[in-house]
Amino acid sequence: MLLGELRAEVAAVCGQLTAADLVTGTSGNVSARDGDLVAVTPSGLDYGALTPRLVGVHRLDGSPVEAPLRPTSELPLHLSVYAATGAGAIVHTHPPAATALSALVDEVPAIHYQVAAFGGPVAVAPYATYGTDELAAHVVAALRGRTACLMANHGAVTIGPGLATAFTRSTSLEWLCDVYLRAAAAGTPRLLPPAEIDRVVAKLATYGQRPPP
Ligand SMILES: [Zn+2]
Repeated sequence: MLLGELRAEVAAVCGQLTAADLVTGTSGNVSARDGDLVAVTPSGLDYGALTPRLVGVHRLDGSPVEAPLRPTSELPLHLSVYAATGAGAIVHTHPPAATALSALVDEVPAIHYQVAAFGGPVAVAPYATYGTDELAAHVVAALRGRTACLMANHGAVTIGPGLATAFTRSTSLEWLCDVYLRAAAAGTPRLLPPAEIDRVVAKLATYGQRPPP
């Protein structure tokens, strides 16, 4: 099977997204890139029924290479993001906090320094009908210099060098949106100033450790 390992990884992440309540039913979609090929979830298939073989392989121009089912209706979004960024994987979800916040603000408020982990304040892409080139263009613009964006009245997108990072980012973005909504429900949240976010962006550039060999 072409890109067998990558397709298995896409199917596994869909299971993780369901378990983490970041998608419901058939909502959301996931892809990963290998050279000029993209492994992407099919349209309208319950994630419980998704097997590696049912994850389609398409070229970067969208043409199918090995795809037993129709690809996600957001294929234009995935292809546009790959064309505009160096991303190796994309996770698009409809999680409750991020989706609720996407209907309230134009940017995820700096409630916590964790916002810096996405490269700085996370923008909300303007609304456009799902599956359209217009929505894809809005998302590409909102992702400029960032690894995540919200989509107004729709959901969230995270990108990464691989699926593991894109998935982790989708869970931390949802956490961030949830924290803001909880704070805003209880009062007027105090926000961090832009200079502090810039400082943390610089600090995070050297954060992290690997186990010794
Ligand atoms: Zn969607």
